[in-house]
Amino acid sequence: MGEALQAIWYDGRGSRGRPALLSCPAPGRLRLDSEGEVLEFAARQAELSPRLGRMPRTLRLPEGRGQLQLADSPLLDAWLPVPSRVEAVADWLERRRTAALAAAVATVAGVVFFFQVALPWMANRLAPAIPAPIEGMIGRQAMALLDRTHFQASRLPVQRREALKARFHALVEGLPRERDYRLAFRRAPSLGPNAFALPDGQVVLTDELVELAGDRDELLLAVMAHEAGHHEHRHGMRQALESSAVVVVAGFLFGDLSGAGSLSVSVPVLLLESGYSRRSESEADAFAFGLLARHGVSPGAFAEAMRRLQQAHGDRELGPLTWLSTHPAGSERIEAAERAAEDFRPPRR
Ligand SMILES: [Zn+2]
Repeated sequence: MGEALQAIWYDGRGSRGRPALLSCPAPGRLRLDSEGEVLEFAARQAELSPRLGRMPRTLRLPEGRGQLQLADSPLLDAWLPVPSRVEAVADWLERRRTAALAAAVATVAGVVFFFQVALPWMANRLAPAIPAPIEGMIGRQAMALLDRTHFQASRLPVQRREALKARFHALVEGLPRERDYRLAFRRAPSLGPNAFALPDGQVVLTDELVELAGDRDELLLAVMAHEAGHHEHRHGMRQALESSAVVVVAGFLFGDLSGAGSLSVSVPVLLLESGYSRRSESEADAFAFGLLARHGVSPGAFAEAMRRLQQAHGDRELGPLTWLSTHPAGSERIEAAERAAEDFRPPRR
């Protein structure tokens, strides 16, 4: 076992120091013997206090096993070699590399959290605070954009439009945002049967949608109720806020703030191009089922409207306005409407 150094062991459990012997059973290994207890560990795991004159030295033991006090001895320097400068630098770099990697992971996690959780949450909280004139501005710009790119004047007979407007206003009467609603009609050969809600409460039905419903007005009421759901839940403004925040944040991340500068121009474009999330769609659907039932219309009308839309659109690509393609719904939305229809009881008169 070779030479051993006498030491006092403060093991951290009591204040009493225990007599102990420190030895070096093999290069790079240290061994502690104290009152029948034996501790063996790698020398590099222990930390030796620097030499200060003739002061006793302290050896901090690994794994929280306390520390040794012992008189200075040349043996200590032999057993506990000071790491070379190169090793120290390598160690420092290694720790920095780990820190850099951790920072990168944290940044990615932070960005994902921001866009997936924080941003929708903030948009949801902020949307009700957006003043009506801003909603009006975005709504008008979006409508102007659609009029330039996809819409033509409606060719539906005026009486038909007026009758549908009357039914629409009866449907949204008493809703919290009742005063915002307006119904508009446009012919849209490039979009086909469709409908949408702008952030200012304007609901647009295409002529093609009205024609697809034929004489079954309740199918149009179902679509109107769905669009009213988007407006009541402020999906348009939430989407606009999220999209514009994405532009600003992306500008900061990639150092290009030109997007933020032209935000007032790009919001309507973003709004139209990004569309509503699946969650927004089912929120609007659920709203529609309740509203329809209160007006004596079975949610089955919604299922039928969706089926007809799906059939009319098939898998046709809808061009730049991809969000509109979410409206010809997935079959799970039809199934949800059919489940709601099972619970529906027609009102007794
Ligand atoms: Zn929708």
